[in-house]
Amino acid sequence: MVPHEDLVADDDLPPLESVRVRIARAARVAGRKSAEIELIAISKTQAVDAITPLIAAGHLSFGENRVQEAEAKWPALKAATPALRLHHVGQLQSNKAEDAVRLFDAIHGVDRLSLVTALAKAMDKVGRRPDCFVQVNIGEEPQKGGALVADLPALLAEVRAAGLPLAGLMAVPPADTEAAPYFALLAKLARDHGLAGLSMGMSGDYETAVMLGATHVRVGTALFGARAA
Ligand SMILES: *Cc1c(COP(=O)(O)O)cnc(C)c1O
Repeated sequence: MVPHEDLVADDDLPPLESVRVRIARAARVAGRKSAEIELIAISKTQAVDAITPLIAAGHLSFGENRVQEAEAKWPALKAATPALRLHHVGQLQSNKAEDAVRLFDAIHGVDRLSLVTALAKAMDKVGRRPDCFVQVNIGEEPQKGGALVADLPALLAEVRAAGLPLAGLMAVPPADTEAAPYFALLAKLARDHGLAGLSMGMSGDYETAVMLGATHVRVGTALFGARAA
């Protein structure tokens, strides 16, 4: 039997449905279940008006990269829909750790000891323990956040020693190159360190990421359209 989603042209579907169908198809190709993959709708720069239709359609997982912007948008939405899960993605300043721990359910940019220390202190104070993904600078790019591959074992040891809830690894591969080798490397590093979570894949490459084991894909543009500036 041909599964239903293969009979539907992606172009005819609303963006959320189209991305879900593509994730399901990539998962099936890889012998995985789509229930193993969390689609995080990256709503940075998007107005609340652009977000509420997704929530109305039953989508519950969202991501933001700026704590202040998220504080302006999300407390009211979370109060209205308590099942929402909010992820922080990208660089997080240590002085924002406490605010982040209050608001977010997962933090995808744990990449240095000073942040590990700040998050551990904030979690003890606030009494919430968001899932932590350690970010790897998988392409060894000087301008990018994340621990170098060589420094990863030491950072993971620090995260574990500090008692943070370690969920997995996260990376953003270099732009304008084939992402698959970087996804495969991140998956290998996660396996080597006994970590189940793999936060990888964005609008341009999430299907590849799913085929290579992503458990969390972070998709913005494909759901909301291009960001202004
Ligand atoms: C903005 C952002 C995304 C989403 O990027 P799109 O290409 O719009 O899907 C994913 N991950 C991180 C860390 C981001 O900052």
